[in-house]
Amino acid sequence: MTQTIAIIGLGNMGGGMAANLVKNGYAVRAFDLSEEALSKAQAAGCTRASSAADATTGADAVVTMLPAGKHVEAVYTGEVFGAAKPGALFLDCSTIDVVTARRVIEAAQDQGFAMVDAPVSGGIAAAAGGTLTFMVGGTDAAFARAQPILSAMGKAVIHAGGAGNGQAAKICNNMLLGATMVATCEAFAMAQKLGLDPQTFYDISSVSSGQSWSMTSYCPLPGVGPATPADNDYQGGFAVALMLKDLKLATQAAQSVDASVPMGNAAEALYQALANAGQGGKDFSSIIKMLG
Ligand code: NAD
Repeated sequence: MTQTIAIIGLGNMGGGMAANLVKNGYAVRAFDLSEEALSKAQAAGCTRASSAADATTGADAVVTMLPAGKHVEAVYTGEVFGAAKPGALFLDCSTIDVVTARRVIEAAQDQGFAMVDAPVSGGIAAAAGGTLTFMVGGTDAAFARAQPILSAMGKAVIHAGGAGNGQAAKICNNMLLGATMVATCEAFAMAQKLGLDPQTFYDISSVSSGQSWSMTSYCPLPGVGPATPADNDYQGGFAVALMLKDLKLATQAAQSVDASVPMGNAAEALYQALANAGQGGKDFSSIIKMLG
């Protein structure tokens, strides 16, 4: 029998994810506060719902892709829990703080529902193309149920452990990404000032111990390495504002467990300065302009 999935949050990411659920044969009930987002989802084959509770009614599973923890908590406790059918599975794919993720999952379990946190790596293009990577927190049984649904929207689905561990993996990864991007940009800027040609420095460092994903897959300089947002005046890609959001979540998580993250803190301060300078919409590799 066709499974029915509710998807709540049809923005840059959720819109593409909803379309991929339809393509994979699910009956999809979609809701967003934005009329434009709802119309796009309808054009992609989803059934429009009039509220989060309406979308949830009769659904076997509920997928959420919302901006932050407060939206996720409000949608689940205010609407989804009350409208879901017994035994429904919940999958929150938003990037939110670990503490809220664990609290909402516990509340869902108290009401008899299974739930996973399943944040993603990959941007808008990966959401549209169905090639996201999902890092999933939850019980073995909840993960087993979530896996086929997430596979319809992604290329990799990895079980990170218990509730909240998907969010923990996501923010630790993105803190590492923010710090390595800053370090890569510093090195390119200093190399140039020391008289090194950027391509020559790339040719050396990309096969030496300074190599990283930020250098060889996402080089922050135009014309060096593979095609990246740097070649398109830092448009598209992963916005400074989203990197800053993730670094703030990392700082919050670090404080909650008394972890020392000086590199993460430094990256956060630098991305905050870039956002304050009005560059929040540019790709995060554009921080090289501030450091150059
Ligand atoms: P977005 O702002 O484009 O979309 C969020 C959508 O949620 C909006 O359409 C908004 O109207 C809707 N919304 C807000 N409150 C709602 C409510 N109460 N009920 C129904 N709909 C509601 O954001 P996005 O870029 O799609 O990101 C979504 C999540 O994915 C965020 O947590 C973000 O950090 C994460 N993420 C984004 C990217 C990216 O590249 N954009 C990459 C990885 C992870």
